[in-house]
Amino acid sequence: MVKLTNVNKHFGSFQALKDINLAIPKGQVVIVVGPSGSGKSTLCRTINRLETIDEGGEIMIDGKELPAEGKDLAKLRAEVGMVFQSFNLFAHKSILDNVIMGPMKVRKMRKAEAKERAMELLRRVGVEAQANKMPAQLSGGQQQRVAIARALAMRPKVLLFDEPTSALDPEMVNEVLDVMTSLAKEGMTMVVVTHEMGFARKAGDRVVFMADGEIVEDTTPEDFFTNPQSDRAKDFLGKIL
Ligand code: ATP
Ligand code: MG
Repeated sequence: MVKLTNVNKHFGSFQALKDINLAIPKGQVVIVVGPSGSGKSTLCRTINRLETIDEGGEIMIDGKELPAEGKDLAKLRAEVGMVFQSFNLFAHKSILDNVIMGPMKVRKMRKAEAKERAMELLRRVGVEAQANKMPAQLSGGQQQRVAIARALAMRPKVLLFDEPTSALDPEMVNEVLDVMTSLAKEGMTMVVVTHEMGFARKAGDRVVFMADGEIVEDTTPEDFFTNPQSDRAKDFLGKIL
């Protein structure tokens, strides 16, 4: 479903991603972990072309190469949903409008249909009662669930999550992780940057450990957490567990 081949990324002379090769089959949930600055966010951002990659690398989504720019980019990017740490809802638009905008603009869906589907998705993530409120009137956990509904509204083939719970108060973390766990169970292909070990073990099929822009370990959650191979992974786990 997602295939990165020889992906490198420089910011000036600094190399943030070093020869990343990663093939994610349909329905797989990949947990990405690693120290701060290891390239986790950069990896997510390259997968939906919020960042360009160096010449010579390739990113394929469902068998199609992501174009660097242009009309096709908006379409292909719609197939890759992204949920950020900071929710990123449009502050001056209602919850419902936040969810219907993408499908109407990019998918050319009619308003009535977009609304109906948006309400269905808001129900699914448990915030349908908030549909007519503004983002600032919702808790962080509710806003993040809206962000997930908004991403789902585009019918993405893959969903990327970059530390979706790390800006939340602790009591709201589980309500967001529960939604993500149910998506994982339903077979959504997901890349999740998170240090939530419980979630990683419960919902993850695979853990990718990054350090200094490289994939250092790529194994099952169970194996990674109980039997890390590299000193860098051992050191990292020593700090977070
Ligand atoms: P964190 O856990 O803190 O979120 P991360 O693993 O997500 O870290 P990235 O944000 O991907 O790390 O950053 C990887 C490296 O690339 C860092 O050294 C960062 O400073 C650098 N970097 C990221 N974006 C840019 C940019 N736009 N310009 C220059 N350097 C950048
Ligand atoms: Mg990051």
